Amino acid sequence: MAYNNLFHAQVADGIFLISSDTNGPDADGRSLLPGKATPNSYLVIGKEKALLFDLAIDEKGLKEYAESLAGKPVMLALSHAHYDHIFHIEQFSEVWLHEADVPLLQGNRVGTRKVNSCPPLHYLAEGDVIDLGDRILDVIHIPGHTPGSVLLLDRHTDVLLSGDTGARRLLYGITPSVSLDELCNSLRRLKEYDFSVMYSAHDRCSIPKAHLDTMLDVIIHDMPHAKKEMTIPGIGTMLCTSRGKETETAFFVMASLLRNE
Ligand SMILES: [Zn+2]
Repeated sequence: MAYNNLFHAQVADGIFLISSDTNGPDADGRSLLPGKATPNSYLVIGKEKALLFDLAIDEKGLKEYAESLAGKPVMLALSHAHYDHIFHIEQFSEVWLHEADVPLLQGNRVGTRKVNSCPPLHYLAEGDVIDLGDRILDVIHIPGHTPGSVLLLDRHTDVLLSGDTGARRLLYGITPSVSLDELCNSLRRLKEYDFSVMYSAHDRCSIPKAHLDTMLDVIIHDMPHAKKEMTIPGIGTMLCTSRGKETETAFFVMASLLRNE
């Protein structure tokens, strides 16, 4: 089967970034350097099975691509249920996600899409462990980007797969969730976990743990003074503030919903 534009890169021992070269920041579309937003799924390969984190790429061949790369059964887990993380979800026989994001699969909120033939769901919760055989992933629940956003910590590599939560761009408020104070408390709690770098669903570069301090600083100190407004079609008007350059790792933009369209 042709996999169209899919490619992969190993970012840590047994952890593969899978993306599409139609969205890359450079000429061949495969650069892992910091740049514009890209859609990325991650495959974590254990001894007995593998886990695909997010269906971030609108390519029907992603499931087969991940299975052939893993060479063993692949379970699907979602960092959250926004429309751009669930492409072709009906191809899977089971899905793991946090229960609080299940309503998003009904497609009646901004940033969501109705799934017509949803596979059977299993729920992930704070403190759960996923055992891939010789490889344990810890489930960390951080409501904020969505009510049911989860992150996965791979104990083997100390890599945190951080979804849209530990990221260089944070969209907040498009899916009503918790207060910014509560989100900040969760980010402080996240700092207590043992990990060295994060990989987000929309960045291909590794993000150092210290980025969480930047996020907290921007949310607490810059956001109250933010004046820049940006309209995102289909979502609404966002209030934005940013630090750094998009082409450098130390970049962060926060966009919080002011009003729906
Ligand atoms: Zn999202």
